[in-house]
Parts: sequence; structure tokens; C-alpha cells
Amino acid sequence: MFRGRDRIEVKSVDQLHIMRAAGLVVAQTLQRVAEAVQAGVSTAELDQIAAASIRDAGATPSFLGYHGFPAHICVSVNDEVVHGIPGERRIAEGDVVSIDCGAIVDGWHGDAAISVLVGQVPADIAMLSQVTESALWAGLAAARPGGRLSDVGHAVESAIRAAGPHYGIVEDYVGHGIGSSMHMEPAVPNYGKPGRGPRLLPGMALAVEPMVILGSPEVQVLADDWTVVASDGGMAAHWEHTVAVTEEGPWVLTALEDVRL
Ligand code: MG
Ligand code: MG
Repeated sequence: MFRGRDRIEVKSVDQLHIMRAAGLVVAQTLQRVAEAVQAGVSTAELDQIAAASIRDAGATPSFLGYHGFPAHICVSVNDEVVHGIPGERRIAEGDVVSIDCGAIVDGWHGDAAISVLVGQVPADIAMLSQVTESALWAGLAAARPGGRLSDVGHAVESAIRAAGPHYGIVEDYVGHGIGSSMHMEPAVPNYGKPGRGPRLLPGMALAVEPMVILGSPEVQVLADDWTVVASDGGMAAHWEHTVAVTEEGPWVLTALEDVRL
């Protein structure tokens, strides 16, 4: 499944700084949307907050019109895993709301996602989100020069497996290379053995995005042709960051603060 490293785009330091600018727009947009998530708000209203945030920053939304996607962000609630379309649905107490956002600055992309817990949620659901976020950070930390691509997925999987047997790691959807396009080579699975695939080089950028379901990892796509749901109805969490491989180590491009691991 891995192709040669010559298929993976390598960015200059200047280009990575533009990706950081795009990533900051994503981070600020996700923060604004997260602050607006509460019982009673519609997912379309969240989309409008994102649209204004991206536009006011002078950036372009990556998602709007992407293969016909009709909104600025994906909003996936409860058993919806990814690619939920904002609409009339209203958020309720106890929901898990996953928000995925992409923005473009001067042709360079940032892509990140968060899961927001609405009010009081059961402890096992809160733990699901926490485990997924922790696994994301384990994966980001493995994006080091000299390492191999599969080290990232191995780190993600190891963190989730260590947390317990009841977490289903989605395999049908994976992370990806990112830069001059949102979705590029290589695929970045959230599982796998270490030490495989292309060597990670400074200037590569990856979107790492574990999708974890409480229960079976099997998913299916709804009739809207977008929304990916857990087949057995389990609750899902989705956390994502764009990370650059640099000489100094992983640089998280979509964090609010300038994070270098
Ligand atoms: Mg995303
Ligand atoms: Mg992504």
C-alpha cells in the first residue's frame, strides 16, 4: 500500500510557514465553533460560524465544494464518525460533536478535527474522546525525520490498544499527506507495524486523524453519500492535526499555540 517516498511532497521551510498560517486559521475556527457548541444550536449554525471565521481570516475553506461537499466544516454527532453534513439537526445535552475543518492560505492547506462533549456525558464516552486525542498526540510525536511512515500509525494504534479492548479503530478511513492539496500521498492508517513504508523526511506533512468507535470499528455511509456512521451505532470520536516533519522534530501546524514535539 505504500508507494515510494518520491511520491510524497516535500515542502520548503517557507512553504511550511504558510501551512502554519493555514493551520492557525483552522485552529482558531475550531476554537470558535467549539465555544458555540451547546444544546439547542443547529449544526448549520456551527457551519456559519466556521464560514465567517475562515473568511474573516482571509483564507479559503478546503471542504466547501470538495467533491461536491456542501458546507465549510464536517459536523459528525454521536454514532456519526466523519463527514457529517451541517444542517437542521440541533445539538443535545450528552452529544459528542466531532468537527472537522480545513483551510487554504496561498494554496497551502491545514486540516484538523476535534470532538466536543456537550454537557454531562457518560464516563466511558468522555474516556473515548480522551483516548482518541491522546492517541493522536502519540502519532504526531512519531512524525520524526529518519523514522518510517508506519511508525505514526503504530504509535496511534498502540496508544488505543493500551487503553482497553473495547475501542474499535476505524480502518476504512485514514489520515493522509497534505500540502498543496488537502488529500495527498501517503495514506496514514491509524494502525500497523512499525518500521515500514517510506522514510520520513524534513518537509513532509501529514494529517494524522484517529477515528475511534466504542465497540465495533465497522462503518457505513448514509444515503446522503457523505455521512460515515458506526454500523452498530456505537459512539465515535475523531481528533486530527496536521504535522510537519522537521529537522527539529514534529511541528504541529494546526495547534493554537506553536507546538513542536
Ligand atoms: Mg480533517
Ligand atoms: Mg484529514
